[in-house]
Amino acid sequence: ERKEPNYFGAGPALLPTSVLQQAAQDLINFQGIGLGAGEISHRSSAGSNIIESARQHLVELLDIPDTHEVFFLQGGGTTGFSSIATNLTASFAKKTGRKGRPAYVVTGSWSKKAAEEAARLGFGPDIVLDSKKVDGKFGTIPSTDKWSIPEDLSNTSYLYFCDNETVNGVEFPEFPFDKFPGVEIVTDMSSNFLSKKVDVSKYGCIFAGAQKNVGLAGITVYIIKKSLLDYPTDEELTKLNIPLSPIAFDFPTVVKNKSAYNTIPTFTVHIVDLVLQHLIQKGGLEVQQKTNEQKARLLYEALEEFPSVFKLAVEKPVRSKMNVVFTLADGSDAEFLKAAEEKELTGLKGHRSVGGMRASLYNAVSLESVKLLCDFVRAYGAQHA
Ligand code: PMP
Repeated sequence: ERKEPNYFGAGPALLPTSVLQQAAQDLINFQGIGLGAGEISHRSSAGSNIIESARQHLVELLDIPDTHEVFFLQGGGTTGFSSIATNLTASFAKKTGRKGRPAYVVTGSWSKKAAEEAARLGFGPDIVLDSKKVDGKFGTIPSTDKWSIPEDLSNTSYLYFCDNETVNGVEFPEFPFDKFPGVEIVTDMSSNFLSKKVDVSKYGCIFAGAQKNVGLAGITVYIIKKSLLDYPTDEELTKLNIPLSPIAFDFPTVVKNKSAYNTIPTFTVHIVDLVLQHLIQKGGLEVQQKTNEQKARLLYEALEEFPSVFKLAVEKPVRSKMNVVFTLADGSDAEFLKAAEEKELTGLKGHRSVGGMRASLYNAVSLESVKLLCDFVRAYGAQHA
């Protein structure tokens, strides 16, 4: 039991109370087997049923085509930065016999980190765009005529972007897929996964840490095109100077073993499954997307009413619907946070790297919570204008 929190934390984030209540029961006694969902072997039938159930519900919810495979990994988004580079390069090498070079679109601190990791591992990525270099700050997505897209894309092993930049509050309204014909597109959806409908067929790979919209920290969801699961041998990869993936993060190995090559946190996967079932019961992603759009619109409108009090640095068309980032013109951050807390509105402090405020409006944050936040924003704005 708990009072419904009005919590806007960026991750780990709020989960539906009903999901947690079911999970609490299942932690102790899962489906009457006399053991908790975290105590059973990941290879037992109950354990593999958990993984399979989550997989199937994800396929249903996102309408994932047969061309794509779903798997779960530990390691969070950051491990994805490394394993995407090694695995997707291996796929490219199988098709072309070459190492190639990935291309990265940098629109905020997470895609920047991903590009830096690809560089650190020796993949020498092409930076197709660094929006901070173009516009002096993260907060825009310049039009593609300002991008440095290689004329010849035949050596581009994959194209990487972050669909929603959690720290900077920048989200792609629509990625310009048509500018990269023939290139496999990879995206980090850690902070907006399942917040909206997505045409999975357009992607080579989608990955997302679970701890914002889908569950607890400890599990990362991957959706990958099956044709990308064919790799050269380890010897061939080494000859091409392509670093091998650590075995537990080798995508074909994980897929072959139905996400249970090594011990997967079954309880954490079960929570993902409960969240997926909850979303399906609520009417699926179309319904959730509409609510999310309404939540974001209401909050941005409330903030915009007081331009002398609240500063919105992100350009309107690319404002994130998940992470609403703003600053206080007079720098009264501590006062704002304290006053919000008095109204039981919590988790509003911005990321330590950028400061200011950030209200994360993930799926589990209700319209009612957002309306309370809007009331607070208006009261604070009127008082400080
Ligand atoms: N990508 C995005 C978009 C994120 O928001 C985060 C975490 N906030 C990460 C990657 C890194 O995830 P993790 O902490 O699970 O490594």
